[in-house]
Amino acid sequence: NRFDLVEFGEEITEQMQMIAKQNQNIIYQHTGTDNMVRLDRNLLKNCIFNLISNAIKYSGENTFIEFNTEIEAQICRITIKDNGIGIPEADQKHLFEAFFRAHNTGTIPGTGLGLNIVARYTCLMNGEVDFKSQVNQGTLFTLSFPAL
Ligand code: ATP
Ligand code: MG
Repeated sequence: NRFDLVEFGEEITEQMQMIAKQNQNIIYQHTGTDNMVRLDRNLLKNCIFNLISNAIKYSGENTFIEFNTEIEAQICRITIKDNGIGIPEADQKHLFEAFFRAHNTGTIPGTGLGLNIVARYTCLMNGEVDFKSQVNQGTLFTLSFPAL
């Protein structure tokens, strides 16, 4: 199940751009000389779909969402960064629990399952998920996989 990560990244970006808010720009960039990865394309797509959907949903109009892929030293790293509402520190340790939603979501709808699915799928692909977030500053999610 080997595929071209850049082609894949460009395709997802185009699809996600269609469901982004007014003037929310999804910027995709790849670094590294290699483009080929061996991962389950559908599982990975579902993960990135969930993370970019969150970035869209939890940030406002007129913002950038940065979507980056990198293959370096046998590691494939995928990051999604937004400048949205962020995640309160006290909520961060519960983030991957099913049905958990942070306390600053207000009227933004959701079930709290997306990230639980991302964590499970990433684990199935022998990868790791990590994040950094600050309230009213934004959030950065990182997926890393062994790039064989
Ligand atoms: P859904 O199941 O439809 O994805 P959801 O978006 O509420 O619902 P998750 O995607 O699992 O659920 O995210 C869990 C919670 O983490 C969210 O409810 C939100 O509080 C917080 N969260 C996730 N991503 C972000 C983000 N990019 N910025 C701010 N908060 C986020
Ligand atoms: Mg979600």
